[in-house]
Amino acid sequence: MITASTFERKIDTCEGADRNMIASDHESHPDQFIEPLSYNQMNETACYLCGSESEFQVLFPGEKSTRELRPEHIAARKGSINKEFSYNLVKCNRCGLVYANPAPDADFLEQTYEQSDQGLYQDENYNIAWTYGRYLRRFAGLLNRRGVALDVGAGDGFFLQELIDLGFQNVLGLEPSAEACRRAKTGVSPFLLNQSFRESDFKPGSLDFISCFQTLEHLPNPDRIVAGFHRLLAPGGMVYCVAHNFASWSVKVLGVRHPIINAGHLTLFDEETLKAFFEKHFNVLAVFKIANRYSINYWISLLPIPEHIKRTLIGTLTISGLSTMPLTLSAGNIGLVAQKAIS
Ligand SMILES: [Zn+2]
Repeated sequence: MITASTFERKIDTCEGADRNMIASDHESHPDQFIEPLSYNQMNETACYLCGSESEFQVLFPGEKSTRELRPEHIAARKGSINKEFSYNLVKCNRCGLVYANPAPDADFLEQTYEQSDQGLYQDENYNIAWTYGRYLRRFAGLLNRRGVALDVGAGDGFFLQELIDLGFQNVLGLEPSAEACRRAKTGVSPFLLNQSFRESDFKPGSLDFISCFQTLEHLPNPDRIVAGFHRLLAPGGMVYCVAHNFASWSVKVLGVRHPIINAGHLTLFDEETLKAFFEKHFNVLAVFKIANRYSINYWISLLPIPEHIKRTLIGTLTISGLSTMPLTLSAGNIGLVAQKAIS
């Protein structure tokens, strides 16, 4: 259970953390049963990027009449349960953004993620942190200050150590999933809050850096989130975002069978649409395709092949000692680094 006192205590234990950057108290969100949603309980959604309400084409039609969206469809990252529900996925004719329409409301999503088991990539988190850190270091010289860094959707806090190593004085990760927070390593757990991102919890201009990895897809309105990041950053502050790339070759090949088309992802980006969200507010320094380092085991787990073949392959590689060897390839992720104007 998340309570105001939990939040306060966490901040107290952050060595040198600036309590003033927190602007408001939190309400308690006890575990509770969340009613499933039918299509007609979801909200018709204008394009998050350009605001168009009716100029879209349906890319993948949802199963409107029969299915309900249950919290477990959204919360699970492993297995195929999050493929059991499909949104009506549309593409805006004006700006090209791909998004779920209709979409569940923010309260449903927030409660769902609080009870979810996100952060299940734990075995690979060392490799993911290494990959994302490698790109950030190219831009670290442009950081105005290394005061307060916030990681939104921090999982088990895997990137917080990178931020500490980069010299930030205060680091804070926000993760709605209690299960992910419980898995945090001892060194970073004091800096991880079991809490959804809410702009109102922070004072405007109080942050120097925000990272947001594969999280923008899950949030109900990316435009509002990006605008909030801009308000929270100090002049010269930097934001680093990683998103799944809807324009990747693997999505073209697999279509609706691709793992990124699932009940958790309300918006799907490509390099142009991701950049367009941030260009409304920020100076975008770079948008780039990411080469991910994962173990060979993990790459095999991502392949769209039958489970028994995966198990055979991984078994063979384990015997030969190759299964944990790192391999760097593109997994269809895009990165973006942007900076708030100094004045
Ligand atoms: Zn649009």
